[in-house]
Amino acid sequence: MKESATLAVAAKARALKAQGIPVIDLGAGEPDFDTPAFIRDAAAAAIEAGATRYTNTEGILPLREAIAADANRVQVQGVPVTPAEVVVSNGSKQSLYNAVVCCFGPGDDVLIPIPSWTSYFEMVELARANAVPVLGDAANSLKVTADMLEAAATPATKGLMLNSPSNPTGAVYSRDELAAILALASAKGWWVIADEIYMRIAYEERAQSVLEIAPSRDNLIVINGVAKAYAMTGWRIGWSIAPVAVSKAMTNFQGHTTSNAAAVSQHAALAAIAQHERANVEVEAMVAAFRKRRDAVVAALSAFPSVQYVHPAGAFYIYVNVEGFRGAADPGAAFAAAVLEEYQVAIVPGSAFGTPNWIRASYATTASIAVEGLTRIATCLTA
Ligand code: GLU
Repeated sequence: MKESATLAVAAKARALKAQGIPVIDLGAGEPDFDTPAFIRDAAAAAIEAGATRYTNTEGILPLREAIAADANRVQVQGVPVTPAEVVVSNGSKQSLYNAVVCCFGPGDDVLIPIPSWTSYFEMVELARANAVPVLGDAANSLKVTADMLEAAATPATKGLMLNSPSNPTGAVYSRDELAAILALASAKGWWVIADEIYMRIAYEERAQSVLEIAPSRDNLIVINGVAKAYAMTGWRIGWSIAPVAVSKAMTNFQGHTTSNAAAVSQHAALAAIAQHERANVEVEAMVAAFRKRRDAVVAALSAFPSVQYVHPAGAFYIYVNVEGFRGAADPGAAFAAAVLEEYQVAIVPGSAFGTPNWIRASYATTASIAVEGLTRIATCLTA
């Protein structure tokens, strides 16, 4: 198993900062905002009210009800989601892993559109299944199409990982693109594990959930959490919405590994989800700030017309092409090392996401730091 490249870069940047080196950290994707005060207050009140013990493995009922109600209000067409389809975990990362382990096993092929978030590969391999990368189209923001997935499939294909808005590219799949992929998956009987953790962070049009497009939920496992939209990374609360049989399997698996997510964190997430009007004000302000940073970063890069990147329509990443950098065999890794050493900017090499000719920079930081970081990246690339 490889170390998580996103977490490794974050640790390296922290270590350099601790030595007094003024690193611009555009490594790990973590909102720089504080968790909204009303959510922190709800957590403090929950501790005082005794939320200090085990809960049901699948999470407290009010939180699962709130998650189901939120999905039904915003996304679900047709049969409403019930709390029995919701399992709360210690972060969307755990929900993704639970889903992968419960759906796939030895001999199964799992399609992973690349570039993709680093941990999908390791999760699939930990389940002893085969990760099958499917390279996206550079002319279409490195997104895959249903045809590309179909061409990569074999009789051993059992499912796919889908992620929109995308980490690491920030690309957002359109309704038509998702509909074609979902129709293919449904016709083939594939599981679709849809990672929608960046759903709320989209700048041009609203990012669509597979829940509002798929003809049925029978083959869908939809993953989300509070970390990115509500600036709650450290609370570790994620969840899945999946058919009841899959939800039961995921609960059983979690019951033998970690049990319930922290009780106090579940109450914090409950405040975020159940008090949706109050939370929306906060989420919209954070997304507006991310949008300004996105615009500032794109404007800064316009001074370097030879620098190519994927149009960042969502999430808080920009994916930059560093092909041919100093003639290196792994241009992204060479660039990451050079830009850290020579320009003190921490970024993640594209090899972590299956595409070594690229690098990922996170702009979940102040606009001035993001612009300075991207300007240094572009300078290093064009020097
Ligand atoms: N998902 C974020 C990232 O890609 C946080 C780190 C991680 O869990 O990988 O940077």
